[in-house]
Amino acid sequence: MSSNALESFLNENLNELRDKGLYNEIDIVESANGPVIKINGNQLINLSSNNYLGLATDERLKEVALQAIKEYGVGAGAVRTINGTLDLHIKLEEKLAEFKGTEAAIAYQSGFNCNMAAISAVMDKNDAILSDELNHASIIDGCRLSKAKIIRFNHSDMDDLRKKAKEAKESGLYNKIMVITDGVFSMDGDIANLPGIIDIAEEFDLITYVDDAHGSGVTGKGAGTVKHFGLADKVDFQIGTLSKAIGVVGGYVAGKQNLIDWLKVRSRPFLFSTALTPADVVAATRAVELLMESTELNDRLWENGNYLKKGLKELGFNIGESETPITPCIIGDEKKTQLFSKRLIEEGVYAKSIVFPTVPQGTGRVRNMPTAAHTKEMLDKAIAVYEKVGKEMGILV
Ligand code: PMP
Repeated sequence: MSSNALESFLNENLNELRDKGLYNEIDIVESANGPVIKINGNQLINLSSNNYLGLATDERLKEVALQAIKEYGVGAGAVRTINGTLDLHIKLEEKLAEFKGTEAAIAYQSGFNCNMAAISAVMDKNDAILSDELNHASIIDGCRLSKAKIIRFNHSDMDDLRKKAKEAKESGLYNKIMVITDGVFSMDGDIANLPGIIDIAEEFDLITYVDDAHGSGVTGKGAGTVKHFGLADKVDFQIGTLSKAIGVVGGYVAGKQNLIDWLKVRSRPFLFSTALTPADVVAATRAVELLMESTELNDRLWENGNYLKKGLKELGFNIGESETPITPCIIGDEKKTQLFSKRLIEEGVYAKSIVFPTVPQGTGRVRNMPTAAHTKEMLDKAIAVYEKVGKEMGILV
């Protein structure tokens, strides 16, 4: 028998969400996560995945993953510190360090886990963290877990950051101060002002932490946002995920050897959660190798991104100020945005709406993430559907 208190908590809150239309019904994908996906039996052009380079279904990655399963099995068997560290994990970490231009790297089971692990292993209640107001939820939760004082600065506002860094430093209240930012902000596709952040960090002796989940494989010809700005030796924590452009699953920190040594003895998801599987690890390693060998997929990603942006802009849509292939189509009103996305999906384009509280009120948008795997024909079809639905709903005149 379940608790009465739990039952009433769940019923009240679920009913409220459903009444307000805020309960997110999850679509079930009945195919591989490629440029075209099957949902409810319908083939849809997929503009909603983070599989930026199309590597999630790449034959070369599937091949090495199958081989690893045959040789090593399907599970790592233990946490990394007991006997879950396979030679395959070390190879991945060496490759990630090379990729990011750092002394060392450490892999985690997800990008989310990585932020929970890394921030709280270094920061504590005697410290402060300056955090961009639009940072990802996993950064916010990682900061909270550390118990450090969290000081939010206005999005990419260097004057606000400098003012708050100065105040924090001069207060004398904190042992260590960190500044933390996404490398690429996934809702608008804008790139963090890393040169500005590094200047301020140098002025006030801040620890620097960049989560480049949406930048790795995308910006800097694939090498990521830190390398894009040539700042690999200036950023203390370079965070990445293996689940987006890399196409697999997992997360990592790249940095100096002593930082990685510390994370190996103090970061809790590393110490207390089972290691990534052999198939994940070899597929991710191969993906990083492919990125380092050639910019072909990265070039195609940008070409497709620019093509889609141009097409939507020419139709008259507001596509914001994205600096990456992420292409928001800003509708504004929340209900209208949701209806717009629903109609796109009915017409064969899987592009999801993103509304308040994920983005500010009145800036509801349908977010498009073209990938290297889309063909021009797919993008043309998507643009034609946007035109049809835009006219039908009076968004385009
Ligand atoms: N950091 C950022 C900035 C992200 O956008 C995301 C994913 N949405 C994550 C971390 C989490 O990564 P993962 O999906 O690998 O857990």
